[in-house]
Amino acid sequence: MSDKRVAIITGSSRGIGRGIALALAEHGWRIVINYHSNSEAAAKTRADVTARGGEALLVQADTGDLASLEKLVDSTLAQYGRVDMLVNNAGVAPRQRRDILQTTPESYDEVMAINLRGPFFLTQRVAGEMVRLRDAGIISAPKIINIGSISAYTSSTARAEYCISKAGMAMLTKLWADRLAEYGINVYEIRPGIIATDLTAVVKDKYDHLILDQGLTPIRRWGLPADIGKAVVAIATDLLPFSTGEVINVDGGFHMHRL
Ligand code: NAP
Repeated sequence: MSDKRVAIITGSSRGIGRGIALALAEHGWRIVINYHSNSEAAAKTRADVTARGGEALLVQADTGDLASLEKLVDSTLAQYGRVDMLVNNAGVAPRQRRDILQTTPESYDEVMAINLRGPFFLTQRVAGEMVRLRDAGIISAPKIINIGSISAYTSSTARAEYCISKAGMAMLTKLWADRLAEYGINVYEIRPGIIATDLTAVVKDKYDHLILDQGLTPIRRWGLPADIGKAVVAIATDLLPFSTGEVINVDGGFHMHRL
């Protein structure tokens, strides 16, 4: 069996997840590329992983559906026999931005199911497998990374359900970090700022103005998926062994209070 480490990255067909996949591939990781519906984008990411000398498995699964998350883990173990890292990255904005006075129960439930409930139970399943694989000497120093957001602490009243899901992700990180430390599993939250992906394409003009003209972030540029990929590589290559439950802001300095 190969000793190359294996990462499951949810939502890695596009955007930030894809950036993480490419960065890890360059460091010799084998990647489980999960996607929801865009099989073409997933195939492109796999081709780009391969072009970097890496290896990838494509698995369709919906983080809003717990049964399909079981399939994601089962397929990983069937193919590679190990999982060294889980990156809970997949996430969605509400289908329609609505003022908090008009948020619908359907939109609330959908966003929370994909962004928070799925990651919670996927972490539970993967953590159990990691403990087993570690006890068997197959893996060492496994890790879990949650992709949070500046929306965990920044009010956007036209997408309340998104903000609440990301605030929940912050506690999810602490809870699992606390529980899993005794098994040598470190858990981190990476908290991106405004990153150029399909998710933010709809508000490009607004943020161009805020970032480039108004200096919303001290570092006056959009973040890139590769910026998040580099932070993941730092964790993946064991550069933060004495940190767990830690939030790593990758946001151009957005999180600072400024006068
Ligand atoms: P994106 O460009 O819209 O990409 C979303 C990815 O998630 C795609 O690979 C998509 O798969 C997958 N996905 C969507 N719904 C899914 C589901 N139900 N099950 C499984 N996979 C699903 O988004 P992004 O900007 O890269 O965002 C990735 C994460 O970063 C999200 O959690 C987001 O909240 C967070 N984030 C983003 C920003 C930002 O500025 N972009 C800032 C802070 C945090 P398909 O290709 O199959 O649709």
